[in-house]
Amino acid sequence: MATEIKSASVARGVDKITHETYYVVKSDDSKNTWHEVRWNNELLAWQCDGEKCVYQHGGMACKHARSVLEVLKIRRARIALAMGGEAPQTVARLQAEEDRKLEAQVERRYTAPLNGNRQFSLLK
Ligand SMILES: [Zn+2]
Repeated sequence: MATEIKSASVARGVDKITHETYYVVKSDDSKNTWHEVRWNNELLAWQCDGEKCVYQHGGMACKHARSVLEVLKIRRARIALAMGGEAPQTVARLQAEEDRKLEAQVERRYTAPLNGNRQFSLLK
C-alpha cells in the first residue's frame, strides 16, 4: 500500500435533495481540494470521486475512501456500544468480515461488487 492516511480531515454530510449520506475528505496535496466519497449502490462500496483522485483503484482503495472507512468503523462501534447487549460483538464480527473482503479486493485491484453484508454496509 503506497499511500498513508495523514490527515484526519473527514466531514460527514447529508445531501439535502437525495438525503444521501456522503463524506468529504481534505486532500493532502492541494489545500482547497476536498474529495467526495459517496456510497455506490452497484458496487456496494464507498467510492471516491475518481476524476480528482490520483490514488484510486476504482476509487475504493484510495486513502480518501479508506479514511471514510476508518470513520465509519469508529461510528459503527460507537452505535453498537450505545445499543448494548450483543451489538458490539456482532458489529465487530461484521466489521472484520468487511475488512477482509476489502483487503482481498484491493489485492485483486478491480471493481467487482464487494458482495458484503448489505444491511451492515448501509449503516452509514
Ligand atoms: Zn481518493
